Amino acid sequence: MSEATTDFLMTPELEDEIVRAAGLLAGAGKVVALTGAGLSVESGIPPFRGPGGLWTKYGEPPMDGYQRFLADPAKAWRERLNPTENWAKGLTETLGKARPNLGHLSLVGLEELGVLRATITQNVDDLHRQAGSRALLEIHGNYSLLRCMQCHVRMEPEEIEVDPEDLPPLCQSCGGIMKGDTVQFGEPIPPDVLRGCYGAVDACDCMLVVGTSATVYPAAEFPLEVLRRGGQVIEVNPYESELTPACTVSLRGPGGALLERLLHHTRARRSHGSIEANP
Ligand SMILES: [Zn+2]
Repeated sequence: MSEATTDFLMTPELEDEIVRAAGLLAGAGKVVALTGAGLSVESGIPPFRGPGGLWTKYGEPPMDGYQRFLADPAKAWRERLNPTENWAKGLTETLGKARPNLGHLSLVGLEELGVLRATITQNVDDLHRQAGSRALLEIHGNYSLLRCMQCHVRMEPEEIEVDPEDLPPLCQSCGGIMKGDTVQFGEPIPPDVLRGCYGAVDACDCMLVVGTSATVYPAAEFPLEVLRRGGQVIEVNPYESELTPACTVSLRGPGGALLERLLHHTRARRSHGSIEANP
């Protein structure tokens, strides 16, 4: 595993907090996870900004990327097929090498336990999907998929025939223009994903926030909405965030190690649940 995980020292106090969080998860009706860039750092994906960040190293995508796509989809597709910009090449190379870490896999474990009902992610790196998450809502899309701008169907690039002489490729079901699923600067969140998020958050009584300070719309609203309705919020983050003071439990450390322990204790609580529920 990564340095962050091997350097990490579990203390008895932290283990106690994890047990407390596991109790909340095991007792909740509907748990929803909200994840961000911090979860993927242990998979070798640096954050976008700051020292060592992807955009710091390779330069930033244009702020009007979506407008440029709309103005000339064929040109945007030619650039997609033959990327010349450093940021595009750097991003594809970095994401292509990354693999899910223990944090992604532990969330799948919570889903298989029947505890976690949905995972909302701000990451475009495909790692939740590779790990095996099923109820997945990718707010900013997925870099490895294509999306129809009209009917929103997602497809693997291999599923669609792309003729470099006849761009952009069109949707096989509705004839709409296909674009990369990644939500570009200036592009609205796909409405189907946004509806899915609001549905999941409305039903949620315990939110697990992993590797994100959740300060960007629409993700910023989700934990606050759960708290407003009397639900619990559990934070897993190596750093204190703006959300920390509002959280029911804050677990400080790398997502991989903490989520693995959280899965372990939640599983133990669930298997003894009938005894604890009937004292
Ligand atoms: Zn379509």
